[in-house]
Amino acid sequence: MIKTKKQGLLIVLSGPSGSGKNTVCDEVKKGNKNIWESISMTSRKPRNSEVNGEAYYFVSKEEFEKNIKDGKMLEYAEFAGNYYGTLTDSVFKHLNNGEDVILVIEIQGALQIKKKIPQAIFVFLLPPSMQELKRRLIGRKTESKDKVMERFETAYKEINELSKYNYVIVNDEVKAAASKLMAIIKAERCRVDRIEEVFLDNLEEKIHEKLVDKNLENKPLEMNNLK
Ligand code: 5GP
Repeated sequence: MIKTKKQGLLIVLSGPSGSGKNTVCDEVKKGNKNIWESISMTSRKPRNSEVNGEAYYFVSKEEFEKNIKDGKMLEYAEFAGNYYGTLTDSVFKHLNNGEDVILVIEIQGALQIKKKIPQAIFVFLLPPSMQELKRRLIGRKTESKDKVMERFETAYKEINELSKYNYVIVNDEVKAAASKLMAIIKAERCRVDRIEEVFLDNLEEKIHEKLVDKNLENKPLEMNNLK
């Protein structure tokens, strides 16, 4: 039997604005109650349907800066003229509770996390094409034309950071992209370095003895042996 580490996985999902990070993340959470999505803090004004404490914690610029000064942010960035950031305490509370935590954040913040917690899992979501990204950003009707263009231009810079991530998913279809993200999470849960202890009962030990060739066991690999 294998006992894995109690602490959950930290998954960082990034990608240009309009790549569909939130939609893909929502789809993954639907079937997985053990995944908790962090609620970010932002100085951006709420959009029509956005509820404080659900989409974001909406705060003033001054309040955000106070949180930075007080050392409460795990990461933060300025994006399209507003602050966005993740609160350290809530992330660790959920991780230590054994839940997998997903952060849906832009690239500058993701790279700060990579420095602090390199063992986190970094996934980059790409739109199927830049034309499609532009179409989605315009179609959302949440930003002015200038802001849409600003986000679109930022997307090019963000895609340049792709190689700093562990995984990439092209979001041409939400369900397919979500199932790829879920496959990544499942595989990461099986990593050998997630194992804390292995128990072998008597029967398993007997099977193990039969399977392992005594002549090979514990012998270092040598070039000659590979022939
Ligand atoms: P939006 O204004 O469209 O809600 O978000 C703008 C960008 O900020 C998106 O790429 C979004 O993923 C990112 N974002 C949201 N929350 C955070 C956060 O806590 N930290 C960072 N660095 N980016 C965030």
